Amino acid sequence: MDKTYIFGHKNPDTDSITSSLVMANLETKLGNNAETYALGTPNKETEYVLNYLGIEAPKVLNDGDVPDGANVILVDHNNPEESIPNLDNVNILKIVDHHCVKVSTSYPLYYRAEPVGCTETVMYKLYKENGVEIDKKIATLMLSAIISDTLLLKSPTCTEEDVNAVKDLAKIAGIDYESYGLEMLKAGTDLSSFTTEEILSLDAKQTSLKDVKVIINQVNTASIPEVMKLKADLEAGMKKEIESKGLDLFMLLITDIVNSNSQVIALGKRADLVEKSYGVKLEDNTALLKGVVSRKKQVIPIMTENA
Ligand code: MN
Ligand code: MN
Repeated sequence: MDKTYIFGHKNPDTDSITSSLVMANLETKLGNNAETYALGTPNKETEYVLNYLGIEAPKVLNDGDVPDGANVILVDHNNPEESIPNLDNVNILKIVDHHCVKVSTSYPLYYRAEPVGCTETVMYKLYKENGVEIDKKIATLMLSAIISDTLLLKSPTCTEEDVNAVKDLAKIAGIDYESYGLEMLKAGTDLSSFTTEEILSLDAKQTSLKDVKVIINQVNTASIPEVMKLKADLEAGMKKEIESKGLDLFMLLITDIVNSNSQVIALGKRADLVEKSYGVKLEDNTALLKGVVSRKKQVIPIMTENA
C-alpha cells in the first residue's frame, strides 16, 4: 500500500504538529500505512511538548516533496493557501479539522470538522469511536494542543467538549494540566532568540477578507510592554512584507495569555478596518483590544464583516 502523507498547516502550531503525530498513530493502529510530516519546524511551545515526551519533530516537507497523485491526510487546516502548493494534484483521503471550510475537491473524501477549540478534541473522539486506546504519550500530545489552541481553556473558541477532553486526558497522562499548561504556554512566549523577521512569521496567517489581502500574525506573551519595546523594528518588518506581498493590511496581535487581551499593531492602506471592527482609534498604529485572544473567533469574522 502506498504511504499516506499526514500534515498540518504551514507555520505549524502545537495542534498541527501533534495532530499529525496522533493521526499517524491512529491510522497505523487501523492498519494503514501513514507517516507524519510537517510544513515547517516546531515553534518553542511545541518543542517544549516534544522534549517533555522525548519525541522527535516530524520531517519537514518542502515545496514539491509530496508527489502529484500521492495520498494525503490534512489535519488542523483545509485552506489551500495554508497547505502544499500542489494540493489540487494529490489525492486527499481525509481531512480532520476545526476551521471553516475553504477546500473543494472533484472527488469524495472523508471530511470531519467540528466547531470545537482544537483538532485534537476531534482526534480524541475518533479514538473513542474506533475503540483505540489512548496511551499516556498520545494523551499528553492531545491535551497540549487543546491547551495551546484554547489558551488554557480560556479562549472563546473553547467548548465543553474541549474541557471534558482535557480533564479526561490529564487523568490518563497523570498530569496537572494547569501547571503543565502554563509552563508550556510560557515556553512559547520566549522571543529572545528570534529576529524581528522570525517574530513576524511565527504564527502568520495570510488570507483574504473578501478582497482585502491581509496577514494576521499572533504572538503570545506574558508581558505586552516587553514585546512593544520592539515596535519600531516590527513595524519596519511589517512594511517590507506589505510591499513585497502587495498586502492591504498587516495586523500583528500581541496577545497577553495571562490577562486575555491583545495589543494590535496595524499597518497598510486598510488599517481603518481595525478601527471600524473594534471601535478603537489607532494611535501610532496601535491599540489595545480588550478581551480579544482568538484570531479565529474574534478577529477574522468581524474583520470580514467590515471589509
Ligand atoms: Mn493550527
Ligand atoms: Mn487548531
